[in-house]
Formats: sequence, C-alpha cells, structure tokens
Amino acid sequence: MNHISKLPNVATTIFTTMSNLAKEHNAINLSQGFPNFNSDQKLIDLVVKAMNSGFNQYAPMLGALSLREAISTKFQYLYQSTYNPENEIVVTCGATQAIYTIISTFIHADDEVILFKPAYDCYEPAIAINGGKSIAMHLNYPDYQVDWKLVESQINQKTKMIIINTPQNPCGTIFSKADMLELERITKDTNIIVLSDEVYEHMVFDGLKHQSACLFSDLKERTFITASFGKTFHNTGWKLGYCCGPEALMKEFIKVHQFNVYCVNHPTQIAIAEYMNDISTYTNLPVFFQHKRDLFLDAIKDSKFKSIPSQATYFQVLDYSDITNENDVDFAKKLTIENGLAAIPLSVFNEDNLDEKVLRFCFAKTDDTLLKAAKILNSI
Ligand code: PMP
Ligand code: GLN
Repeated sequence: MNHISKLPNVATTIFTTMSNLAKEHNAINLSQGFPNFNSDQKLIDLVVKAMNSGFNQYAPMLGALSLREAISTKFQYLYQSTYNPENEIVVTCGATQAIYTIISTFIHADDEVILFKPAYDCYEPAIAINGGKSIAMHLNYPDYQVDWKLVESQINQKTKMIIINTPQNPCGTIFSKADMLELERITKDTNIIVLSDEVYEHMVFDGLKHQSACLFSDLKERTFITASFGKTFHNTGWKLGYCCGPEALMKEFIKVHQFNVYCVNHPTQIAIAEYMNDISTYTNLPVFFQHKRDLFLDAIKDSKFKSIPSQATYFQVLDYSDITNENDVDFAKKLTIENGLAAIPLSVFNEDNLDEKVLRFCFAKTDDTLLKAAKILNSI
C-alpha cells in the first residue's frame, strides 16, 4: 500500500525513547516529565466518589460546569482576569489536545507560525499536519532570552500564530513582564493569534511571578491559554487540561473540539472541581517544587555538571561540557545504560538539532530518588 506520510521526519518522541531505555536498563528516570509520587489521596477519593455518584457518562461538551466555574474562579483569584465559564473555557484531554485543536482550528496551508526553540515537541507536528510552516526563533543557552526585534522582523502577511511557552519546557525559564509587553506590542493591530502554553504556571520559584498572557489586556484578546491538570495535580496519566480564550476565538475552537473528542473524562472533572475549592492545592506548589530543585542542585554542587537554577517548571538543565564533547543524545543514552540515570538531551528540541551539551532532568521525584540520582551525577 502506498501512502504519503504527513510527518515524514517524525520518529518516536524522545520522552518515550528515554523512558523505555530507562525501563530496559533499570535506570532512575529523570527524563520524561512526570512525578514518581502519587496525587493527593483526597483527590483520588474524590474521583471514586464521583464514580460512585454516577458521573460515568459523557460530560457536557465544554466540560463539567463545576470545573469550568472552578477554573474561572482561579483566574479571577490569581490574575484578576475574567473568563466566562459558559463560553470561554473548555476542558480538554490534557494540554496536548488543547494545543492540537487550537492549531488545527486556525492554521491553513502555508500559514506561518512563529515559535521559540528549544520548543516542547508537540507544536511543530501539529502545524505540519495542517499544512502550516514553523518559523523557529532560537533561544541561546544559558539565558534563553528572546530578541523581540528579530521576532518582529519575521512577521509578515502569512504570520497566523505565535506560540509561547512560559514557564518554558525544557529550559526552565520564564518570560518577564517586559517580554510579554513586547509580545503585546508586536501583535497589536494584527490578526495574529497567540497560543500561550502555561502548563507550568504554578511552578515558579525564588519569588518570581508568572506573567500569564491574561494579565495583558490587548494580548488577552488574541490569546488562547492552555493548561494541564496532570502537571498541577501530579496525575499526568489522567490527561485532563483546559483551554481558555476570548469568546469569538473559543467559538471556532469548539467547532473542532466537538468532532475531535467531543468531551473528556467525566469523574476526574467532577473531582478536580471540588478539590480546587481549596486554593492551597495549587498555591503550595512553588514551595513544594522549589524545595526539590534546591535539594537536587545542592546535592550535585560538587559535580562536574554546570547549572543555573531553574526559574520555573519541574525541570533543571545541566551543562556537561566539562565532562565530554560527546553529542547530547549519545551522552544521555550512555548515562542511562552505563550509569543508570536517564535524562533528556536538549538538541532534539532545537532547530537542526543544535547541540549545546545540555541535558534536562525532571525533579518532580521523591527526595530519595533525587539524592540517588545526584550520587550518580557526582560520580561522573
Ligand atoms: N506543554 C508543555 C510545555 C508540556 O511540558 C506538556 C507536558 N505536560 C504539555 C504541553 C502537555 O500536557 P498534557 O500532559 O496535559 O497533555
Ligand atoms: N511533558 C512531558 C515532558 O516534557 C512529556 C509528555 C510526553 O511524553 N509527551 O517530559
């Protein structure tokens, strides 16, 4: 049978590859971004309660109303920003589905989408499947700063969308208020849609503040925000997230969403809605994860790996250029197979696989696991 692949250059993701390799070699897995500890038992009990209460059939298409209301309340509380639960919030199958649906709703053949690399891996395939073209702006290790004048110079008639990811995976950096104001300035009076992937909004450290796109009034009018409960509540396997944006944009999103998934897992929605009533379930996260980042960095401070503390997310990048000149994919595989510790090589997220000798380590792990991993890093 003959067919023309829509994604001829795409192979299995680095997350699957490294997690499988870790399993095969019984290595500590700090590669794929997921916690090795459970969700709060209270939340699990709430899911059981929702199932026993009969929430086992299709959820409303936009998501359980109680959850959309809880999300709206959260935006009001954290950012004093209003999203109408009736028509500006949709619960999705993780942030991945929200992102895919946004891109397929708006990207036509030959449309250009500006994004920043190293970039999380699900943006470009979604653009390609829809016939669009990714325009990559490279962010340099170690500060990963954006040159907004350069970004502005890339904007033309074909520019349909700009994708930002703050806090940024894999770099562990955030966009400052000045960055967001620049984004607002260069998109003002254009038809450019902004996709702001904010799945790590609750994991920001050292007193820094997450600059959500919804805080900037003109920007908010052209922006979809995507979020992931999997990241927030330590249950990536539940694949629950959401998307919000202005009514006119959400109206188009919903047309695609209803034929893409229609609706998503019902009992987890009911449970999370109730769980989120206690705001400490998300306001405690910066302290919780900053402790893990600090524990990890302190434990490897005498190693040959160089680091700048991650500002946000649950990832820490480490520069291994003092250890070897090997390319990062080979080094990551060797570290897994020979030393028993898996990480993610950053080159896979870069244009032309630019290798800056940097690996990403996930610190959403028990303290014990982080200390074991540190011991391995210290021995290299
Ligand atoms: N965006 C980024 C930056 C991510 O790291 C991830 C992985 N959680 C996603 C989107 C996808 O989130 P989800 O697992 O909810 O689909
Ligand atoms: N978001 C996770 C990470 O960055 C990976 C999720 C996936 O495997 N697609 O590691």
